[in-house]
Amino acid sequence: MKNVIFIAPPSAGKGTLSNMLKDLGYLHISTGDMLRSEINKKTEIGNLVKEIISKGNLVSDEIVFNLIENKLKTNSLPFILDGFPRTLKQAEMLNELFIKLNIDNYEVIYLDISLEEALKRALGRLTCECGKSYNIYNEEFKPKKEGICDMCGKNLIKRNDDNEESFKVRFQTFIENNKPIMDYYEKKNKLKIVDTIEGTNMVFAKVKEILK
Ligand code: AMP
Repeated sequence: MKNVIFIAPPSAGKGTLSNMLKDLGYLHISTGDMLRSEINKKTEIGNLVKEIISKGNLVSDEIVFNLIENKLKTNSLPFILDGFPRTLKQAEMLNELFIKLNIDNYEVIYLDISLEEALKRALGRLTCECGKSYNIYNEEFKPKKEGICDMCGKNLIKRNDDNEESFKVRFQTFIENNKPIMDYYEKKNKLKIVDTIEGTNMVFAKVKEILK
């Protein structure tokens, strides 16, 4: 299986697809999850990024790149990059790292979604610390018991940047930064686009086909 870089607006379903790919033996590397873990552990990095994240703005390229570099240097599984790169600079830094680590077996998958659909998903999203994600506005993704994870029984959490104000900043920031990233990977002939409107199972089937 090929390595994969997911680039997608917030709430397009990167996390859900990553969880499905994990079952096929993939290592899920999410910069958002790593940063939230730093915040929860109250580390120096966590304290530095807490406010930036809660407002929906981007953390510095250097901080996120260091997290990614450490993960990729110490793992040999096929990997999913979820939430990185988010700027052209990050894409260039990643390219340098791939050259250093001899990684060329990868695809970049863009998950397409409209602002309206993404906002609806974000406002209904609940997550569990085990990585499972739910949506209270979608019958298919509701937890069986309100507020409780079906998988591990822990209480579900609402991300504090999943409110309308932060979400719109995150979506807008994404749109502004994303075009040069898409162009960058298109030129490398690495870019595939998948429309998420068809539902999770169909999207997953398409993603698996691309990564074969
Ligand atoms: P996510 O879980 O991917 O939606 O990320 C949550 C937040 O973490 C983002 O809104 C940013 O504030 C920060 N973040 C995650 N990945 C990156 C990145 N590659 N570059 C800068 N900031 C990031």
